[in-house]
Amino acid sequence: MNKRLSYLFLCASGLLSAASDWLPTFDDKPVAPSQIKAIEDALPHEAIVAPEVSRRILVFSATAGYRHGSIPSGRLAIEKMGISSGAYVAVVSDDFKHFEKEALSEFDAVVLNNTSRDFFMPHRKQRKEFEGKEWRWLQERNDRLVDNLVEFVENGGGLVGIHAASDACYDHPDFGAVIGGFFDGHPWRSRNNVTLVVEDPEHAINKPVFEAMKDFQIQEEIYQFRSEPYSREKLRILLHLDPKRSDAVEGMKREDNDYPVAWVQSVGKGRVFYTSLGHNDHIFANPLLLKHFLAGIQFAAGDLDADTTPSAQLN
Ligand SMILES: [Zn+2]
Repeated sequence: MNKRLSYLFLCASGLLSAASDWLPTFDDKPVAPSQIKAIEDALPHEAIVAPEVSRRILVFSATAGYRHGSIPSGRLAIEKMGISSGAYVAVVSDDFKHFEKEALSEFDAVVLNNTSRDFFMPHRKQRKEFEGKEWRWLQERNDRLVDNLVEFVENGGGLVGIHAASDACYDHPDFGAVIGGFFDGHPWRSRNNVTLVVEDPEHAINKPVFEAMKDFQIQEEIYQFRSEPYSREKLRILLHLDPKRSDAVEGMKREDNDYPVAWVQSVGKGRVFYTSLGHNDHIFANPLLLKHFLAGIQFAAGDLDADTTPSAQLN
């Protein structure tokens, strides 16, 4: 019996049914009516560029680590922004079935909305609910679905990572390379005020959003990134934090003082946009930042052409 047949036999025999049936459930708080109104008032009413064809994006918010309270706001804002701008149709779902190869191919881009840790796995606190072989089956499924996502991007798909999307899949270097960086703590906490510099104001993703703005202030939790795989040799940085004009904090680890906030890169034939903004609810009700997300989504979906020459190679 070959490997695939024996695997099918095992599944059919029911030995692995407990694990193979497992999907996460999340107990998110509904978005408050005042926040729904704030999101609606902030929505852009036109696309950054007209979509070439009707675009379909998956908004996925499964977590196996910290679950951000802003996930429902992110979902709602991205879904509604597709309708208000006409840029895309959002499928909002945490069902893993969308990450099977054929299902993924139906999307122009995948948005990882604050996904955390091994987001195709149960939380580690649930580990004891599974027998050894069940856990192994879950791990194999996790590996396969992460690989499918990486392959989807390499083959021409789009990926958008929001905030904790970089606090994920640490055992998958391919995922780290695609998302562009791994989270290494947040010296700036949710109530800190920070100054973000619009690096590269003429860039196609920045210009329609920030126009002539050189920088802006915001209250937000801001990440720093591990020394690997983050690199200006690979990524085109769009926004960074200026520590001198932000609240003084402890825990800054970067000797080069490089605290990027948003970037893009090309991966194979695909496109990746990542922004670490998205911890606080108000981020998803901020008209400027909704346009920032929209430009990133339209880039990832293939409509907004943008230069991905790494920042270190400019000049
Ligand atoms: Zn956060």
